[in-house]
Amino acid sequence: MASGTKHGGKKRGKAKPSTSALDGWKKPPPEVLRAPHGLDLAAFDRASTPGWKHGRKAGEQLVARHADELSELQERLFAEGRSGGTRSVLLVLQGMDTSGKGGIVRHVVGLVDPQGVAHRSFGVPTPEEARHHYLWRVRRALPPAGYIGVFDRSHYEDVLVARVDELVPPEVWEKRYDEINRFEERLVESGTSLVKVALLVSPEEQRARLLKRLDRPDKYWKYNPGDVDARLRWSAYQEAYQAVLDRTNTEVAPWHAVPADRKWFARLAVSELLLDALRRLDLGWPAADFDVGTERARLLAT
Ligand code: AMP
Ligand code: MG
Repeated sequence: MASGTKHGGKKRGKAKPSTSALDGWKKPPPEVLRAPHGLDLAAFDRASTPGWKHGRKAGEQLVARHADELSELQERLFAEGRSGGTRSVLLVLQGMDTSGKGGIVRHVVGLVDPQGVAHRSFGVPTPEEARHHYLWRVRRALPPAGYIGVFDRSHYEDVLVARVDELVPPEVWEKRYDEINRFEERLVESGTSLVKVALLVSPEEQRARLLKRLDRPDKYWKYNPGDVDARLRWSAYQEAYQAVLDRTNTEVAPWHAVPADRKWFARLAVSELLLDALRRLDLGWPAADFDVGTERARLLAT
C-alpha cells in the first residue's frame, strides 16, 4: 500500500498522500464533481465518468489504494474528537431508489473503522418524528465530534418526496430551502465538514436494477412496490431534484453531482470526495496530555 504506516508512527506529521497528485483524474475530483450553478439535470449524463481518465479496473484500484489513507485520517479525526476537538465530517447521500447509496456505505464508508462512523438512514418519519419539526430527527442524527456521519437520504426528502407526493402544501415546502441553507451554514460554522452528494441514476438503469431485485429471492427484501409509484412520478422527482440543486447549492455547503449508472464510478467519486474532506482538515495526532518519559519509567518499574 502506498500510504505509509497504518498507525502513522509516533510523529505528529500528516498522513502521507499516496503517489501522484491527480491519481488518474484530469482535475481534482471535488472540482469536476462539484455541481456547477445552472446545472441542467435533464441534460446530465448519468452513465458518464467525469474527470476520470481510466476505466473500471483502475477506478477500483484507486479506491483500494486510498483505503489506508482514508482509514488513517478517520482515526486521526476520532483521536482529535477524543482529545477535546470539535470537528466532524458529514457525508449526505441523496438519490432515488437504486442509486447505490447502500453500496457506497458498504464499499466506501466500510473502509474505515465502524467505531468512528455515525450512520443514519432516513425513511418515512415515525409517528414520534412526525410530531416534530422535520429537522428534529436530523439534528439528533448529526455526528458527534470526531465522527464521520453518513446520511442515507436526509433532510432533503422533506423537499423531495414531501413536495412530489404533496405531503405538505407548497407554502410549507417552499420555505424549507432557505431554512435548510441556514441549518447547513450553522452546521459548517460549528465545525462539521459537509459533503453533499447527489447520486444521479438514469430511469433505464433504475428499471434494470429494480427488475434484478425481482429476479433474485435474495433481493426481494429490497423491493418495495412503492418504488414503482416513485418511477411513475420520475419527472416530478427530477424537477424536485433540480430545485434542490438550484436553491441549496451554496458556497458553504455545495452539492456534488455524481453520475450513478456505473456503480464503480459512484464509489470511486464518493471515496475521493470523502478523502478530500478529511485531507483538508489537516489532521495531526493529539499530543500526549501526560509525561511520556515518566509513564515509561513507571511502566518499566512494574
Ligand atoms: P429506502 O431508502 O429504500 O429504505 O426508502 C425510504 C423511504 O422513505 C423512501 O421512499 C423515502 O422517500 C421515504 N422517506 C424518507 N424521508 C421521508 C420524509 N421526510 N417524508 C416521507 N417519506 C420519506
Ligand atoms: Mg428502497
